[in-house]
Amino acid sequence: MDLTSLSISALREKLVAREVSPLDALDALDARISAVDDKVHGFLSRDLALAKAHAAKADLSLPLGGVPIAIKDVINVTGEPCTCGSRMLLPYRAPYDATVIAKLRAAGAIPFGRANMDEFAMGSSTENSAFGPTHNPWDLTRTPGGSSGGSAAVVAADEAFAALGSDTGGSIRQPAALCGIVGVKPTYGRVSRYGLTAFASSLDQIGPFTKTVRDAALILDVISGKDPMDSTSLDQPVPAHTALLGRDIRGMKLGMPREYFIDGIDPQVDAAVRAAIRHYESLGAEIVEVSLPNTEHAVGVYYIIATAECSANLARFDGVRYGHRAESSGLLDHYGRTREEGFGPEVKRRIILGTYVLSSGYYDAYYLRAQKVRTLIRDDFTRAFAQCDAIVCPTSPEPAFKLGDRADDPLKMYLADIFTIATNLAGIPGLSLPCGFAEVDGKKLPIGLQLLGQPLDEPRLLQIAHAYEQSTDWHKARPGL
Ligand code: GLN
Repeated sequence: MDLTSLSISALREKLVAREVSPLDALDALDARISAVDDKVHGFLSRDLALAKAHAAKADLSLPLGGVPIAIKDVINVTGEPCTCGSRMLLPYRAPYDATVIAKLRAAGAIPFGRANMDEFAMGSSTENSAFGPTHNPWDLTRTPGGSSGGSAAVVAADEAFAALGSDTGGSIRQPAALCGIVGVKPTYGRVSRYGLTAFASSLDQIGPFTKTVRDAALILDVISGKDPMDSTSLDQPVPAHTALLGRDIRGMKLGMPREYFIDGIDPQVDAAVRAAIRHYESLGAEIVEVSLPNTEHAVGVYYIIATAECSANLARFDGVRYGHRAESSGLLDHYGRTREEGFGPEVKRRIILGTYVLSSGYYDAYYLRAQKVRTLIRDDFTRAFAQCDAIVCPTSPEPAFKLGDRADDPLKMYLADIFTIATNLAGIPGLSLPCGFAEVDGKKLPIGLQLLGQPLDEPRLLQIAHAYEQSTDWHKARPGL
């Protein structure tokens, strides 16, 4: 078997048995990347020499000892570029490790490769990257999803054993679904955001992309926990995320939200998700209908809150201390030109929108109102979880769409996140795992099943996901690149 197709767990067995070394793993990945990444374009850069220097010192007795992990190009890793998919940060190299990177290193893992993304994580297709889109390994003419499209595609294409991404409105779960792998957005505050370039600070969370549910649990064990460098990180004990894997789910109540099974959802996606729900029934779960009545407001509320926060967060990119610096005459001219040249069109659109909704006279009508509706959305979930242990629904309303199809229609693009956005507004954990394939134009395109849980209930979400994964074969299929 080719080394690169292994899960983390399987690779670890070989590493611990000294059948392969961390350097072998890195070389195998590098060869695979050289062979396929011209087509996929999942990576923006990689530094094999730097990764090898770390691998030579890897302690195999640690939980992720010797395991290379790809990193979305929005998370700082010492000495590496961190472009955020933008021209704005092109010359920048990170002078420090994000907390998640420090934690991965402390667990023996080796960050390797910078994964492509929509500029500053704004988008659902990776087409907003300033460096060209990533292609879906299942059909190279289609999007891998976004904004963490690079992270998802490299794991699906066996160019990485796992990857880290960030999820503000679906950017881990949607690309995981479209690429046929597992992706987890943890509870807000579960994972430190220190060293993650901020998009919308009240929504952003870092999480894993993996080939199996168990691998996601292994990474969550390592990256979760309170961090003095992030005041929004939660001071709560971190449970063993693998603890419940393998326990049966008999008697568990799974909620089907009425508002997530609607007209307009792709019929093949609808059928696959309904079949998955019947499968859960056959595993002994009880299915209950629940209602999330404020779902229809989620996309609107998100595009007020996320843009407001991004307009403030992105104010720091002014060409004074780091990043792109335009030729200019005078200070105001300097700011204007630097930002005009450095940011792409979607980022500018969001900054303008965000500045508008925060401006005096409009603040009450938009921003304040959106915050109130956000509370109603959170209350919907609290009420739903009084009736069920977890929610099951589609991750994305459709399988991967064609590159270029939506690029000029921001509103249509925004609707790609219709089932993932409310999760971030409510701060609850969400997970996507493979649950089937759609046949489109003679190609197989992965479909994702989404599981949503109560705050800090990640171990149970993983248990429910694992029960499905271990009794189905979807996760074993690989794209024929
Ligand atoms: N697609 C959504 C957006 O464009 C979500 C992005 C994300 O989760 N980072 O904002």
